[in-house]
Amino acid sequence: MSEEKKVAFKKIQATGHMRKIMADYFYELDRASKEGSPKVAWCTSVGPAELLLSLGFVVHYPENHGAVLGSTRVANDYIPVANAIGYSPDICSYLTSDIGAFIKKETPLSRAYEGIEGVPKPDVLVYNTNQCRDVQDWFSWYSRELNVPALGISTYRNIGEITKEHLDSIVHQMKALIPPLEDISGNKFDIDKFREVVSTSKECTALWKKVLETNTAVPAPMSFFDATIHMGPAVVLRGSAQAVDYYKVLLKELEERVANNEGAVEGEKFRIYWEGMPIWGKLRALAELFITLKTAVIASTYCNSWIFEAFDPEDPFLTMAKAYTEIFIVRNENFKEKYIEDMVQKYQIHGILFHDAKTCPNNSNNRYGMPERLEKKLGIPTLTINGDLNDLRCYSEEQAQTNIEAFVEQLETK
Ligand code: SF4
Repeated sequence: MSEEKKVAFKKIQATGHMRKIMADYFYELDRASKEGSPKVAWCTSVGPAELLLSLGFVVHYPENHGAVLGSTRVANDYIPVANAIGYSPDICSYLTSDIGAFIKKETPLSRAYEGIEGVPKPDVLVYNTNQCRDVQDWFSWYSRELNVPALGISTYRNIGEITKEHLDSIVHQMKALIPPLEDISGNKFDIDKFREVVSTSKECTALWKKVLETNTAVPAPMSFFDATIHMGPAVVLRGSAQAVDYYKVLLKELEERVANNEGAVEGEKFRIYWEGMPIWGKLRALAELFITLKTAVIASTYCNSWIFEAFDPEDPFLTMAKAYTEIFIVRNENFKEKYIEDMVQKYQIHGILFHDAKTCPNNSNNRYGMPERLEKKLGIPTLTINGDLNDLRCYSEEQAQTNIEAFVEQLETK
């Protein structure tokens, strides 16, 4: 038997429940697209989804589709297709793989869900540049291609303290979206409905936070690699009762693991923080590698990015603006450093792994000296591995494995 086959994965029992609600979600989108009702909005992952849901749209998230292309390891079939029409191999590989797949009229959703032939056709494209400029360019391509309006919010980037001026501007831009969205959806904006969606999103986000925080326990009940999968509902179903119900089930299971002293990694010796994007096509291989090294990757910036604590249905516009502005990716280097420092303490981390994702500088925080500064300040080692979220040509498995093994040895000697 090969070494690989001996690796003992601990299956999360709630996975079946998650698969069911994700399937229902994709079928609902497909039905809406085929029947023309309700209208379909495409939204960026940290875009104003609650506003869209309150106006009766069903919402498709192209970044989620990008992650599906990556995790099913077909992204590299499509990236060159987008490169051929002028979209550089150096820009976001979610964008290039998603556009490439669209041009080829293919999607892994067809293989996973019988009867689904493609991604749902949008009636409107809504972005928020809080995370990067690529999302605007991405949606603009579809806007030109499908003759569908692209509306958006242009956000501040690289900010430290969030000021009233920042938030006023975002609120103003959010409110300006309402008249065109009313026209497209055929529904009048209803503040009570909006409050209700924000309230449900808040509940979802609070539960997702609790799920992640179960990993403050030693040993940690869930790995980062599990969390990247189980965050799906927090991304695409926030604002829905299904996501809230799901996270109650998942939380219960993880709390039971904690009570039973059951870790995701048998014999957990070291605890690692993952900074940066997942390498979607290598989740399984990396999870196996860390299990064999008795090292648990247990906390990350990425999975925490769908915690929106500011939401308050009493003041939905202002608090939604705050929630989508105070996220890590929007903030300056000082904020980010302090954030990671707090995470290291909270989760009792022994080392930090930075993933330098070739096509996403926005989520690669190793490039301006942060690992060195954190090492000095926290007295723990860091490791940078080169790779990418979707473009596996940028990732050398052999090299990453050697580096990770050497890193764990370094932890042993410490
Ligand atoms: S933040 Fe990175 S991965 Fe996400 S859409 Fe922007 S460039 Fe792509």
